Amino acid sequence: MSALDLEGRLNEAQLAAVTHGEGPQLVLAGAGSGKTRVITHRIGWLIEEMGVDPRAITAMTFTNKAAREMESRVETLLRTDRLESSVGTFHRFGLKLLRRFGERIELKRGFTVFDDTDQIALVKRSLKDEGLDEGSFPPRTMLSRISDAKSRLLTPAAHAAGAETFFEKRLAQVFRRYEHLLQRSSAVDFDDLIGLPVRLLVEDAEIGRRIRGGLRHLLVDEFQDTNHAQLRLVRELIGPGGNITAVGDEDQGIYRWRGADLANVLEFEKSFPDAVVRKLEQNYRSTQTILDASGGLIAHNEGRRGKRLWTDRGAGDPLELFRARDEIDEARWVVRTARQLEAEGARWSEIGVLVRTNAQTRALEEELLRTETPYTLVGGTRFYQRAEIRDLVAYLRAIGDPRDQISMERILNQPPRGIGRKTQRLVATECERQGLTLWDFLVVDQFESLPERSAKALRRFRDLLQALQGDLDQLPLVAFLDQLLERTGYLGLFAGDDEDSRGRRENVGEFLSAAQGFGGESESGRVSLTELLDHIALVSDLDGWKVERGVSLMTLHSAKGLEFPLVFVGGLEEGVIPHYNAKEPADIEEERRLLYVGMTRAERRLFLSSCLRRRVAGRFQDQRPSPFLDEIPSSLVIVHDSPSLFEGERTRGAATFFGRQQAPSEPESGKLAKGSRVRHPKLGDGVVLSVEGYGDGAKLTVFFASAGKRKLVAKFANLESIS
Ligand code: ATP
Ligand code: MG
Repeated sequence: MSALDLEGRLNEAQLAAVTHGEGPQLVLAGAGSGKTRVITHRIGWLIEEMGVDPRAITAMTFTNKAAREMESRVETLLRTDRLESSVGTFHRFGLKLLRRFGERIELKRGFTVFDDTDQIALVKRSLKDEGLDEGSFPPRTMLSRISDAKSRLLTPAAHAAGAETFFEKRLAQVFRRYEHLLQRSSAVDFDDLIGLPVRLLVEDAEIGRRIRGGLRHLLVDEFQDTNHAQLRLVRELIGPGGNITAVGDEDQGIYRWRGADLANVLEFEKSFPDAVVRKLEQNYRSTQTILDASGGLIAHNEGRRGKRLWTDRGAGDPLELFRARDEIDEARWVVRTARQLEAEGARWSEIGVLVRTNAQTRALEEELLRTETPYTLVGGTRFYQRAEIRDLVAYLRAIGDPRDQISMERILNQPPRGIGRKTQRLVATECERQGLTLWDFLVVDQFESLPERSAKALRRFRDLLQALQGDLDQLPLVAFLDQLLERTGYLGLFAGDDEDSRGRRENVGEFLSAAQGFGGESESGRVSLTELLDHIALVSDLDGWKVERGVSLMTLHSAKGLEFPLVFVGGLEEGVIPHYNAKEPADIEEERRLLYVGMTRAERRLFLSSCLRRRVAGRFQDQRPSPFLDEIPSSLVIVHDSPSLFEGERTRGAATFFGRQQAPSEPESGKLAKGSRVRHPKLGDGVVLSVEGYGDGAKLTVFFASAGKRKLVAKFANLESIS
């Protein structure tokens, strides 16, 4: 133990968990008590002190961000720069197994991973095929019910057997069709990334043995957020008496809507009968005031084991609650306070601004931009959801595997090439009549049943795809992408000089630079394509892959497991948190846990805010304070009312108007003009794509070869001109 100096880094209870021998254990403990630390140190201990082969250790968590964080902490601990243990999300782990062994359960090689948008398209298609209309069977609802069934590992047949009501029976029909179409597209969805590995382990004894044989220790963080399928996967992997270390906190379960089940952690011993259950009670993150405030809140939940956290960090400052007039007033206060904290010595990256819904980030972003405060929107941008990026990804998938029906349909007439709606309908009918996929049809049919113009367009499209397939085999990935843009003329869609077209061209550029990380110069594009597509499928789910600098702005859901010295939680209003969709007592409890997660991210200071009214879909709506505010002991909170609460109607209009006005922009000049080449101390060389404003306050959009497009403020960016 000397090499790692565990005693110096862990308290007694943590040390016991880290050095636990064989067999299952659960660490059930509150926020900031060192659960994640137990996982990282246990990995280190197993490798360093017990001589366990690093490759026989797997650690799982929920977001890519958390996984990266965990990996780098172990690497620091072990003083290595490449950890050989597998640390990743459940989904990444599942996908890896399917890529290796999927053929054993009849998965086609090079299968595609469908994300949410693809899934919705598939549900719509299923509804149509079953003759059901979207009005009575909303696709979103159907999908979430299908996903729910899959997260309980139900097959369409098993699901149909339990269907009683009219709606349930239709749902069963849609589910069956959905699965059928998924297979025909040789694709899997996110739930399959858990469900299919379970099937593999259960059905194929030989592969099961091989996988289990290679895995000696499994560690799972945030266990309270596992659903039935994930629990099953864990059990199949390690067995009821196996070496699993699970850590979790029933007060932080926030994924019930995705089928997560708190019983998995509350009744852990049911799944792992001999489990040792441990508690950690000392908190190392927050001040006692923050612990008491969040503890007071969460005490209102039922269905918890209950615990009290303590810290020796002292009481610290009271919480502050700001009552704003509206969301713009709120944003101003948040940003002004953050800037003040920075002026007093805090670093931007020490500040986290947390909100319940994505929509809330808009007002905050505008204010951050207006005041040129550096910030990162964590997990919100959804780069890969943008239309032009989805188009390119669809091309890649269709070329990689033309059986991917959804992608084929997306690119058929994008950019427009004379295959209009009418032709598409005719083709669809023909495919159905002959039982062919779109691609098969293109390859085998002579298009005799179609008008000559359509036939010609289809032939050209087929030739285009075949040519691109050839390119993919011969060129490295990035060269292939160039060729793809060339042959399809795709960028012609955005030839204009308007803001929108420019933005889309830049996104395409950013996509190319993202692809650069995959595959070597000599490797054929086909090899690296799967790798790139897998990566995209995984990162587009919950969180992005960008590094954070500046103030972190994010939803409460993406803040799980993180910590910041200074935390703001905005929108403490009825209908925001608890969200207006939360109606049942169990939903309200989940909303309370979500706020609890947010509050317990704070180390030193916690700021809350609420608005008297808020624009919702463009219209003002009066807001009432969140009932959760009454559950936080009032002696711990200082309340400020916004001065503008007392201002008249006229000034309000004026303030809003001026608040949104932009500084007049000067002609671009000097060394940081558009097009000039620059060097950044961390990001390397890049090209200035656009300049807004002037002088030190200018905002630059720079394209870096290593890091893609970045928005920087000249004053903070430390750029050196190199042209
Ligand atoms: P959450 O429930 O929010 O995920 P957690 O229980 O996983 O929290 P950690 O993130 O592991 O808690 O730890 C919280 C903070 O306390 C971290 O900064 C961690 O490094 C620190 N910490 C934990 N244990 C100790 C210890 N024994 N000595 C010093 N610092 C510690
Ligand atoms: Mg943690």
